[in-house]
Amino acid sequence: MPVVTRFAPAPTGYLHLGHVLNALHVWDAARGDPGGRVLLRIEDHDRQRSRKTYEDAILDDLSWLGFTADEPLVRQSERYAIYEDALDSLRKLGRVYACSCSRSDFEGQRYPGICRDKQLREGPGLGLRIRLDDAVVRFVDRRLGPQTQQPLLQGGDLLARDREGNWTYQFAVTVDDWKQEVNLVVRGEDLLDSTGRQILLARMLGRSAPPEFLHHALLMKSPTQKLSKSDGDSGIRDLRARGWTPEQVISSLAHLRCER
Ligand SMILES: [Zn+2]
Repeated sequence: MPVVTRFAPAPTGYLHLGHVLNALHVWDAARGDPGGRVLLRIEDHDRQRSRKTYEDAILDDLSWLGFTADEPLVRQSERYAIYEDALDSLRKLGRVYACSCSRSDFEGQRYPGICRDKQLREGPGLGLRIRLDDAVVRFVDRRLGPQTQQPLLQGGDLLARDREGNWTYQFAVTVDDWKQEVNLVVRGEDLLDSTGRQILLARMLGRSAPPEFLHHALLMKSPTQKLSKSDGDSGIRDLRARGWTPEQVISSLAHLRCER
């Protein structure tokens, strides 16, 4: 099976060098395989923070850099019916419950299951969670090797839709990767911890073979600080305005591109 991978920026800010490093890894993975394909997915699941101006700027920067996808782009905001269907299949299995909690109702990263057995009625202002099995998930990362994760202990029951009615990143990408038949996910190692829960969710949804994963090193601002959207000096817009060429942008990342 040829590689099907994806580049999936969120239009909540401008493209920066960290995204470009990810794009290099994504396109390298696809172009290194005869018949390999790259899909482009705009991850605008967060309706409050996503902006069309960011999307336009991201697409313009990508095209300036020479990254071309192999299929027309898709937007998560146009796929709500697909997420509804996926959620409904879990609802029929008794896996979905309403949750009234906000982040301040529990400490740390793990949702402790406060609403698991409350049987709250679904409705506006409530989130929706997926009841996870206490399973151990094993997978082999293409760069980092064998991994063992226990999603229920790490994050608790998975939030599929938040209290504002937004589909969550975890739920939407898992459904999208399944429906778009993505078989290799290439992303930064800051997302390694969420891989087990995405594999577990994919299996619950009925995906027989979850994707493979490659988590690459991140572009760091300093040895301990990762680059963020607020670091203006790495914005591709700004580099373009200062006269950088696409080749200069790409070659500034060359030392990281081969670091597997
Ligand atoms: Zn709750």
